[in-house]
Amino acid sequence: MISNRVLGVIGSGTMGEGIAQCGAVAGYKVLTFDVKPELVIQANAKIAERLDGAVAKGKMSKLERDQAVARLHVGKSYDELKDAEVVIEAAPEELALKKKIFAELDRVCSAKVLRGTNTSSLSIATIAEGLKHADRLLGIHFFNPAPVMKLIELVQGPATSDQTMVEGRAVAAFLAKTPVKVKDSPGFIGNRVNRPFYLQALHLLEKGEADIRTIDAAVKSIGGFKMGPFELLDLIGLDINLSVTQSVYEGFNKPDRFRPSSIQQKLVESGHLGRKSGRGFYDHTNGNPAPAFESPLRDASSWKPSKALTDFAAALGKPADRAMWLYARIIVAVINEGGLTADTIALPRDVDVTMELGFNYPQGPLGLADFVGLPIVQKLMADFHTESGQSECYRANALLDRLVADGKWGEQSAKGFLYHAL
Ligand code: NAD
Repeated sequence: MISNRVLGVIGSGTMGEGIAQCGAVAGYKVLTFDVKPELVIQANAKIAERLDGAVAKGKMSKLERDQAVARLHVGKSYDELKDAEVVIEAAPEELALKKKIFAELDRVCSAKVLRGTNTSSLSIATIAEGLKHADRLLGIHFFNPAPVMKLIELVQGPATSDQTMVEGRAVAAFLAKTPVKVKDSPGFIGNRVNRPFYLQALHLLEKGEADIRTIDAAVKSIGGFKMGPFELLDLIGLDINLSVTQSVYEGFNKPDRFRPSSIQQKLVESGHLGRKSGRGFYDHTNGNPAPAFESPLRDASSWKPSKALTDFAAALGKPADRAMWLYARIIVAVINEGGLTADTIALPRDVDVTMELGFNYPQGPLGLADFVGLPIVQKLMADFHTESGQSECYRANALLDRLVADGKWGEQSAKGFLYHAL
């Protein structure tokens, strides 16, 4: 197939290579640009190898592989992109660099060309400042590895036109991805809503409520997550995760609920970064990860479940034990951040899709809250707010309060955060 649809990719690192692969497989002629063109040649060779693997596994035909590989090109001058359908920038996360790239693209590309940035943490508004065609720039945020992960967050800056968002959606569809829409805001949907998953686990550890293995086990066995928060922190890298937390914390003007954990900061400072350094919360040097972090435990022998926790547990068909309390302290904070996000910058459905496809949640947090019943979630949140000394992350979001007041209690009343046809 000869395609006239051109995708420009700027930057041929981890993400640029993945995005180029998605584009070529979907049918775009892909022109990839890098300050080191040899990196594009190497990346295109790696894509060809990966597609060989897909052919060997019967996932694509040899002809499809050959056609996709023939669509991969090394870009020489941005002039080649003047009539492209879309350009996606995946250069390093530096504001000045991204602004320079889009200023150059602005000079050569017609207004028809859609401009996307794959930034994880920079504001679309700031990148777009001073551009003639700021209305044509949106965030097109892929997840790593791009060829595998189905999710794309489409981010609308204050200058991004609605038409640009529609075209972004069409590009995502052509790439066979699932798009969600979000307004320009720190962490977009996923990196924001997922913060309490780590931060509340770290907080419980800091307070001596349980050790890392117990917290990980509770989240896995009750929540159905494949990995607990500490296992995941070790996999992602404590430093990478910390820098996301810092950027969300600073982006929102340092609210308490996003304050980075001192435990995590100290581990990073000591070079205990997780799997990649052999040790983080667990020791990974001997195949079977063993806990490598110890802190004093509080005496919890007199602990008893509250009425709200008992109701929450009953709704999930599980005992109201200490593991349930640990899990609930984490997931209720995630539900609250999800509700706040759904009340301000994204659709409730998109919050759940993001957490399921981008972060491997077995069920989106808002769907889970609807399943349990919103009055129970609201009551449990109020209990946690009190017992945590008014922690901001349990101050119920206004959307939750409105829904409960309006009798929209979740699945039982066919409407909660989401609609549920009966
Ligand atoms: P990377 O460092 O792997 O790749 C960046 C590439 O850009 C390098 O090959 C570099 O040579 C090239 N480059 C530098 N200056 C350039 C320029 N002026 N023109 C063209 N190319 C240039 O980075 P990455 O991990 O692929 O991240 C790229 C972007 O994607 C960042 O904004 C990052 O925040 C975002 N992102 C990364 C991930 C991830 O997991 N790595 C996930 C989502 C989004």
